[in-house]
Amino acid sequence: MAVLEQLTSQEAIALENKYGAHNYHPLPVVLSRGEGVYVWDVEGKKYYDFLSAYSAVNQGHCHPVIVDAMKSQAETLTLTSRAFYNDMLGAYEKYVTETFHFDKLLPMNTGAEAVETALKICRKWAYEKKGIEENQAQIVVCENNFHGRTTTIISFSNDPVARANFGPFTNGFLKIEYDNLTALEEALKENPNVAGFLVEPIQGEAGVYVPSEGYLKNAKALCEKYNVLFIADEVQTGIARTGRLLATCGNCSCKDKHCSGTPEVKPDILILGKALSGGAYPVSAVLANDPIMEVIRPGNHGSTFGGNPVAAAVGMAALDVVRNEGLAKNADELGELFRDEMNKFIPDCDWITAVRGKGLLNAILINDTEDSSTAWDICMALKENGLLAKPTHGNIIRFAPPLVMTKAQLLDCVGIICKTLLEFKV
Ligand SMILES: *Cc1c(COP(=O)(O)O)cnc(C)c1O
Repeated sequence: MAVLEQLTSQEAIALENKYGAHNYHPLPVVLSRGEGVYVWDVEGKKYYDFLSAYSAVNQGHCHPVIVDAMKSQAETLTLTSRAFYNDMLGAYEKYVTETFHFDKLLPMNTGAEAVETALKICRKWAYEKKGIEENQAQIVVCENNFHGRTTTIISFSNDPVARANFGPFTNGFLKIEYDNLTALEEALKENPNVAGFLVEPIQGEAGVYVPSEGYLKNAKALCEKYNVLFIADEVQTGIARTGRLLATCGNCSCKDKHCSGTPEVKPDILILGKALSGGAYPVSAVLANDPIMEVIRPGNHGSTFGGNPVAAAVGMAALDVVRNEGLAKNADELGELFRDEMNKFIPDCDWITAVRGKGLLNAILINDTEDSSTAWDICMALKENGLLAKPTHGNIIRFAPPLVMTKAQLLDCVGIICKTLLEFKV
């Protein structure tokens, strides 16, 4: 290990380039340590993390409560498979279902697996409960969605880079415009075989698109009218990121640190991942009430690692942190402050045209063409100035720091961002 610890950034990058598949295009920074809102590179330079591993590290890097839970469970029992019961899973399922007000949870590991699981449950419900004829079920999805990387999920993506040469694809999906209730109603009215509507409460990967006020609520009402399951993918928006425990929570804004989220929209199926573990471990989950979840019977679905004792311990600790530290409220308040500060700055800056988002899931729009490298170059300049962020699509930069950030730290970051943009030249 001594040799490995002395790697320079360049050496570490060279190793990944030579021995790793090139399925990402990372910013050239090699991180070796994280604590709270900070990460350090191998040369010891300290940065603010403004991506939080795509909103997995909402609770901050290496949160001691989560790390302790993980360590002590790792020393006790790590994996039994679901061939046997373990003494952690039930307690975890009770905690999570009570927190989000559902009857049952199905444990998986990654976000994509949880989305796949939700799609399978929805289809099975369609045949066994709704009475759709075999193999005829359709699921409505939105343009520019991001739900993960499996073959079925990319079947209904419209990102050419994510799809090209991966066919043949899975059938049974109808794509409509996001934030368009008329399109949704038409799809539901014209297709009696629709079983579900899969939607992100805010489209994160697409560039942090916040739908119009009332969109989710009205979409849910349409789903009820046509007996279609409303499936919310809150893998990125959930767990306090948008200033509420869930983005589908109501206006309570989770001001009370023990608020468990009065639903504005109660999804029929809720998909969670990423920050469900605080980024310490892959933990995802699908939640639904009994009339839906009961279609899943022994042998229908599973995962060797899903619901393992470490995941259960980590998941409970991660939700404890969200509650005890009031992270929803903090994200709500700091998000307002961030957008206010950026809006004040925009008239002085030629490089940004707008800031948008909810809670601490925000984006700035860069004043250049979509195929320009300006957003990337700005992220490189931010890196030099000690803040790590990454472009999403083309000329949009997402800003999603850990939710344990303080007001002083946020203002420090606003300072770095504004200074970088003022000095930036192509
Ligand atoms: C990240 C993400 C996923 C996929 O999660 P993985 O853990 O990467 O498989 C699914 N849906 C949304 C909205 C996401 O942001």
